[in-house]
Amino acid sequence: MPLVNLKPVLAEAKAQGYAVAAFNPVDYASMKAMIAAAEELNAPVIIQTSAKTINYYGHAALVGWMRELAENSPIPAVLHLDHGKDLEMIRKCVDMGWTSVMIDWSDKPFDTNLATTRQIVEAAASANVGVEAEIGQILGVEDDMVVSEEESHLTDPGEAEIFCRELDLAAFAAAIGTAHGYYKGEPNVAFGLIEEINRRTNTPMALHGGTGLSDEVIQKCIKLGCAKINISTNLKHVFIDSFVDYHREKPTDYEPLRVLGAQFAALKDLFKSKIAQFGGSNRGSEVLSKVA
Ligand SMILES: [Zn+2]
Repeated sequence: MPLVNLKPVLAEAKAQGYAVAAFNPVDYASMKAMIAAAEELNAPVIIQTSAKTINYYGHAALVGWMRELAENSPIPAVLHLDHGKDLEMIRKCVDMGWTSVMIDWSDKPFDTNLATTRQIVEAAASANVGVEAEIGQILGVEDDMVVSEEESHLTDPGEAEIFCRELDLAAFAAAIGTAHGYYKGEPNVAFGLIEEINRRTNTPMALHGGTGLSDEVIQKCIKLGCAKINISTNLKHVFIDSFVDYHREKPTDYEPLRVLGAQFAALKDLFKSKIAQFGGSNRGSEVLSKVA
């Protein structure tokens, strides 16, 4: 079916008390593995491209691959832009067929972030595209984005309330103690803050830095209102390791499609395990009835 808007997908997930897995593909095969995993579990899925990936392949290739995959599949899939900082890139995503975009102006003053996000929300709404936006600064490294410990700060719940009241968002990204990349030691997740932000905003929350969180932490976050969980670092590791491992085990096999097959299988297993862990299994058909 055609790609779907993020907004009804997350509204449904929040209402039913589960989270939709959001993965950052790095090529056509990883996108295909995401759709295959979601199909096997009858689950909704969010495929989110980083700015770095768009700069590498171009908008047209990515949206072309995703359209082909989604249209030949019965499950609801969202094509989302992760951490959009460049307004021109965001607008091009909206124009070219992404069904969701994140504007991340969280490093700007609150009023600038609010005003600019409002412009994007208006442009996106007329194209039936959902918007995720952020206040606070999430710690860690993601692609070209680096937020140090000194720069990172947790989201102010009062600001979150104003931001979400002023804007009709599909998802709200808050800095609640998780981080991009792998954790060194136990992350200090601010559950009280998640609870307060959700109560005051009533907007589905996007949890960034999902790689490496324990199942206990994940389940608690979902219970408190996180409806989208981002997995990027995990995928990068499985992508590389599965390729290298295959070659180590079969050093004389130079058939590329068999190597790619092993990589595809490993990625699909990762995606299935995350979708199931976040409670997305068997939700695909019920989501479809909400977005149709
Ligand atoms: Zn993020």
